[in-house]
Amino acid sequence: QVAREALDRLVVDVPDFPEPGVVFKDITPLLADHDGLTAVVQALADAGRDADGATVVDKVVGMEARGFILGAPVALALGAGFVPVRKAGKLPREAHAVSYALEYGEATLELHRDAIAPGERVLLVDDVLATGGTVKAAGELVAACGGTPVAVAVLMELGFLDGRAVVGDLPVHSLAVI
Ligand code: 5GP
Repeated sequence: QVAREALDRLVVDVPDFPEPGVVFKDITPLLADHDGLTAVVQALADAGRDADGATVVDKVVGMEARGFILGAPVALALGAGFVPVRKAGKLPREAHAVSYALEYGEATLELHRDAIAPGERVLLVDDVLATGGTVKAAGELVAACGGTPVAVAVLMELGFLDGRAVVGDLPVHSLAVI
């Protein structure tokens, strides 16, 4: 479809970034293209709708930093609010924190305690699902607020890393599996 074609045309593979052996998916040319950006935002938003097109989420959570860029317009498209999950130490008020293992070391993500009300339904948005650690941590943060993550929407899923296994039962909507 249109979104998939935009991804194929506008996402650039960058070898050996940020370290040797990694092929980084650079989405900035996609973001710079109005038609491409529109197509992928609409496609991501479908993950927050039922079969009749009705919005089924109260909030869209985007993960720093590219999840902010994509998540905010997805929230507007759905008529939902947007909530940022941030790296440690960035949020100014009381926050839940979840740490998870990276290949080397550890990362911590945070979410304001009052950002999600108990019972709210949440769509998680990011650009790339790799090992799944980021999405898993974001889901745990939503749950710590008393909210319910209902789905994950990403542009691309790096299938060979099997992030879905880490994410667990949460449905993952990826516009492309690579
Ligand atoms: P994970 O926690 O699933 O291993 O990694 C996902 C996170 O790393 C996402 O927030 C994503 O933005 C970032 N990421 C990992 N690999 C890539 C990549 O190749 N391209 C981009 N744009 N982001 C990546």
